[in-house]
Amino acid sequence: MIHYQNENMTVFQSALYKTTTTLIETTDAIILIDPNWLPNEVEEIKSFVERVLNNRKLYLIFTHSDFDHIIAAGAFPKAFVIASKAFANNPNKDEAVQQIINFDAQYYITRDYPIYYPAVDLVIEEDGQKLELALLTLTFYLAPGHTEDGLFTIVEQQRTLLAGDYLSDVEFPFIDSSYADYVATMEKAEAIFHKHAIHTLVPGHGTVTTKPAEIAERIKESKVYLQSLANPEAGLEVQLQNKYQFFDGMKDAHRQNLKIAKMGDYIE
Ligand SMILES: [Zn+2]
Repeated sequence: MIHYQNENMTVFQSALYKTTTTLIETTDAIILIDPNWLPNEVEEIKSFVERVLNNRKLYLIFTHSDFDHIIAAGAFPKAFVIASKAFANNPNKDEAVQQIINFDAQYYITRDYPIYYPAVDLVIEEDGQKLELALLTLTFYLAPGHTEDGLFTIVEQQRTLLAGDYLSDVEFPFIDSSYADYVATMEKAEAIFHKHAIHTLVPGHGTVTTKPAEIAERIKESKVYLQSLANPEAGLEVQLQNKYQFFDGMKDAHRQNLKIAKMGDYIE
């Protein structure tokens, strides 16, 4: 399930929803982002981590609290956890855990690790907050809109943006918390892209790209999509169907986006 690999980074991709897990190696640490989904996939990621860890410290970053992204927290109980303040203060923790339990029940899945909502050791409270490791700096930005508790992580020396559920090539924006926030987060993504000279983008679902032109294009496409929600044309669904291979499975999310965009002014 290894989808992309360079000197310092390995990106795994699940068979489910092309969900990514990222592993970054540096001299004093291993950083794991959103380990997921199926038991054999988690097992593969876990053995990879065990093989390379040595005496280094294991960090676990969660890009947001959707259940598919926190599903394997319990497989890495000793890791030092990083997530946003809204993630740490999520009022619906039990609901996220219940979604994992329901998913596993539906597909007769058993796991050899406990299911729980991760406790956060380092809470990201503001844009530009950093974690300085020996040879690597992580810079964090809050990224609400898809969910309230989204987090962008920039690996400075590698000019890499770990975007969570934004800037995917396989899905249009899913707005689960706020249209206005989503629009602002895409502005922020564009500013980050320039400020940190990003050349590698890892989305939460879909394909890694190492082409700045494609990153710029994905930011633009998200913005265009958000604009189209505010003033939808008759042919919009057909356009999306042509663009996204799995559109039929996402149609409801698009229709919900249209409703949320319409109420945009009333959502904080
Ligand atoms: Zn997701």
